[in-house]
Amino acid sequence: DVRVRFCPSPTGTPHVGMVRTALFNWAYARHTGGKLIFRIEDTDAARDSEESFHQLVDALTWLNLDWDEGVNVGGPHEPYRQSERTSLYLEVIQKLKVSGHVYESFSNAEEIDARNDAAGRARQHGYDNFDRTLTEEQRAAFRAEGREPALRLRVPDTDLSFTDLVRGEITFPAGSFTDFVVVRPNGAPLYTLVNPVDDALMGVTHVLRGEDLLSSTPRQIALYHALIDIGVTTFVPLFGHMPYVMGDGNKKLSKRDPESNLFHHRERGFIPEGLVNYLSLLGWSLSHDRDVFSIAELIAAFDIEDVNPNPARFDLKKAESINGDHIRMLDVVDFAARTVPYLEAAGILTAPLTPSQAATLAEAAPLVQERITLLGEAPGMLGFLFTDAAGLQYDEAALASLPANAGEVLAASVDALDRIPAAEWTHEQVQEALSAALITGLELKPRIAYGPLRVAVSGRKVSPPLFESMQILGKDDALARLNRLAA
Ligand code: GLU
Repeated sequence: DVRVRFCPSPTGTPHVGMVRTALFNWAYARHTGGKLIFRIEDTDAARDSEESFHQLVDALTWLNLDWDEGVNVGGPHEPYRQSERTSLYLEVIQKLKVSGHVYESFSNAEEIDARNDAAGRARQHGYDNFDRTLTEEQRAAFRAEGREPALRLRVPDTDLSFTDLVRGEITFPAGSFTDFVVVRPNGAPLYTLVNPVDDALMGVTHVLRGEDLLSSTPRQIALYHALIDIGVTTFVPLFGHMPYVMGDGNKKLSKRDPESNLFHHRERGFIPEGLVNYLSLLGWSLSHDRDVFSIAELIAAFDIEDVNPNPARFDLKKAESINGDHIRMLDVVDFAARTVPYLEAAGILTAPLTPSQAATLAEAAPLVQERITLLGEAPGMLGFLFTDAAGLQYDEAALASLPANAGEVLAASVDALDRIPAAEWTHEQVQEALSAALITGLELKPRIAYGPLRVAVSGRKVSPPLFESMQILGKDDALARLNRLAA
């Protein structure tokens, strides 16, 4: 059975590339009926933070990417935070030492450089496996100098090949890497050790991760062979490396780039359905002619072997357009509820809503749902409905757009609308009365006629449809707004 994992280090704020990795692991687990493990790789106390850990959980939870084993939910391989697994690593390290797969290495960087220089090798050749053959006496002499050894894995002197699920056959020729450090002189095990050890202990079958980790894969495979030899596991997992996510100017999306920050997109009003749909397109596609699809369709179709190895470009415009499509697919009651946190953040409402606020929101929601691509646009579109005529704020640009005859238009409108009985105040009646007074009566073009009314009613140049807005406000409030701007 498929067992995949998402195993971020809790540093900084969740970014788009990392979430795409989580999503592909999740989609593959759901597609195959396998399990997703969520492990936290917090072995770097200086860089890791609890805040970042909570943000990672928040990110996956918000996107509805659930996990079967891991932090918060537990499972058969607890604990799922590497900071709590030290004793397991020490046990494995001990076995690797006894079996001779790792050895003590005292060489420091200057000594390695000096030996490469003396042998006429480039310094970038790196470590020369010098300590492989140290005798017991030589090691004792180093210790007597007060040196503490690192532990290095003895790697085979042969080519190492594997079939990457995304990139196909990849070969690292013999000598392209040498015996590498798995435990620091202070006893701290490194990523190159704890990551595969945990994958082995947790029975991970497919390691699906970013292209940036491709170069560590042959080392990890070498370590896997040692782990098989000492009985920690019985197999080497399959690997698949997902493409880089590029930002503007064809540069890798950087952590400093606001577009790389997942929560930036949430604040702007992406909904999880829309963002998951878009993120799935960073290296994958459902079909050549369909960019918008449901989570169920994604799960049904997703296969890691269909992931494209070429860099994927993060296209914010496309992401927003897809989000708008998903907003329109929401049930309208659900849509209205999802605008509330944004209305609250904008200081327009405080939950729980009063019955009259809830009724206003329910009436206006369908008008707004058709017109926005981000929930963050909702406060601007809806704010005018939650104030009275006296409290309405006008946009500078909206006021500047008023034509010279705005006063005349407003006066004629008040005159016509006042004749509608309050009980018959519907958008059809409002439209009919205004059309008769302004288009027929004053012979105005609709844009000239209705522009000032829109500003009077909403304070803005862009709003939900005018006549429906006036219906929602009711006769008294609507007339009060026209009179206020006319004055
Ligand atoms: N903790 C590693 C990282 O965040 C995980 C890499 C992997 O998936 O193997 O880069």
